[in-house]
Amino acid sequence: MDQSFIYTGNPARILFGAGKRAELGAEIRRLGCSRALLLSTPFQKSDVEAIAAGLGDLAAGVFANAAMHTPVEVTEKAMAAYAAAGADCVVAFGGGSTIGLGKAIAYRNDAPQIVIATTYAGSEVTPILGQTENGVKTTVRGPSILPETVIYDPDLTHALPVAMSVTSGLNAIAHAAEGLYAQDRNPIASMMAIEGIRALKAALPDIVPNPGDAVARSNALYGSWLCGSVLGMVGMALHHKICHTLGGTFDLPHAETHAVMLPHTVAYTETAVPELLLPVAGIFGTSTAASGLFDFSAALGAPTSLKALGLGADDLDRAAELTTTNSYWNPRPIEKQAIRDLLQRAWSGSRPE
Ligand code: NAD
Repeated sequence: MDQSFIYTGNPARILFGAGKRAELGAEIRRLGCSRALLLSTPFQKSDVEAIAAGLGDLAAGVFANAAMHTPVEVTEKAMAAYAAAGADCVVAFGGGSTIGLGKAIAYRNDAPQIVIATTYAGSEVTPILGQTENGVKTTVRGPSILPETVIYDPDLTHALPVAMSVTSGLNAIAHAAEGLYAQDRNPIASMMAIEGIRALKAALPDIVPNPGDAVARSNALYGSWLCGSVLGMVGMALHHKICHTLGGTFDLPHAETHAVMLPHTVAYTETAVPELLLPVAGIFGTSTAASGLFDFSAALGAPTSLKALGLGADDLDRAAELTTTNSYWNPRPIEKQAIRDLLQRAWSGSRPE
């Protein structure tokens, strides 16, 4: 085997399994802490309050105002709540928005973090924080950002609405697909990527008709852990860049945008590195990874066009401009007209070959 790579693992303690939420108190103590500030969005406030009640004295308070894109003004309020409560660690209960808030606190005061992940976005296993100030989203990396402990309890994902389960699962698959052709790819990340896609491919079609399918929920969460780990381990390329731009500039929803764009960005890159995406085509049983991903999304009822997400046809020129202004690495070089064509196909929702 003629390989050359650098592998750096992200140290995190992972507890996986139905009922594992019961370990939260022991995990807080294991970190040497005794006063946790619990975080959630307003939507999951009652759930996180119930968890806090179960923790007794280990819960110092609840801050249930996490918001999309981690606005700095929300983080500042959470920092004040952390200080007022005399907290010594944070527990983020939820998806990428809540986890982002926990990371933003830890980035500022190095608080130990425990995450109870309830979507498939994967942020809980990355040392990456995206935060927004005055409408501008910036990304930072650092060891204090990576949560120390992650609890994956599939029981807590049964209530994730079907549409969100699907798009969040496709968001996870996007991390893995880009990981396979990452410039700094390595064999461990690639194994995790393939296994993660395989698990989500098996699970999502069973979740759509039966969101309470315990086996499928467990498989999907397992897949999301693997895909998120890939995101944390290797660099992303065209797909994540385009989604970041569409989300940031045109305010398109995060997971849905990933779902729509993935077959098209993969089609763009697949022509340059078909051998690296062969495992994905194999998982879907199609001649190309791109067509397999498109058919899979469509069969799950995911949105398949940018038009359906509310992007105007007259925004496409600007989107192409913005995604090609700063150069960045992709296995197939970024060419403005080809990206404009890609966006047109994604806008109308045409199936890649
Ligand atoms: P989200 O965290 O915004 O959650 C969406 C909504 O679903 C929220 O109201 C939430 O409370 C609710 N919800 C979450 N889990 C639920 C459950 N099990 N049952 C019922 N409702 C539930 O969505 P997301 O897609 O997880 O996260 C998106 C954000 O995360 C974006 O801002 C994105 O940029 C960020 N993100 C960051 C990274 C990273 O590594 N830094 C990785 C992935 C995503």
